[in-house]
Amino acid sequence: MKIEKDRVVRFHYTVAEAGVSEAGQEPLETSKERDPLAILFGHGNIIPGLETAMEGREAGESFGTDVTAADAYGERRDGLSQRVPKKHFGEQKLEPGMQIVLNTNFGPRAVTVQKVGLSVVDVDLNHPMAGKDLHFDVEIVEVREASKEELEHGHVHGEGGHHH
Ligand code: ZN
Repeated sequence: MKIEKDRVVRFHYTVAEAGVSEAGQEPLETSKERDPLAILFGHGNIIPGLETAMEGREAGESFGTDVTAADAYGERRDGLSQRVPKKHFGEQKLEPGMQIVLNTNFGPRAVTVQKVGLSVVDVDLNHPMAGKDLHFDVEIVEVREASKEELEHGHVHGEGGHHH
């Protein structure tokens, strides 16, 4: 079964910065030590460049693809620093350069810690992968039809998806 709109895709991925020597480069993120990610295809649940590269493929296929920043997390924007009370970070130990997920009014958001003060923390709200051209290695694990309920909700249920 080929990957197309309204089908559920489960896949493993590893993402690294494109154009940087792959030897010795730590991946930015990988699903390899977790369960595969499950998405409802064609609903903008993953970055546009990856969705384009996946279309038409089948379970068992592996491929690598480069995605430009514009088709990934967009360009970095200046002036996206924000000062946040330290209490919002709970007990975790904070260091500049650290990437953490902060609960904001717009939902959870990945941010980068810039400066840690006594009672406030400066964070950069740009997505940590913003401004970067990325290289993805992808392994398609499963392709199936979405259920009527999944289509209504706009996300995957069960393995690798939402439980509710
Ligand atoms: Zn649901």
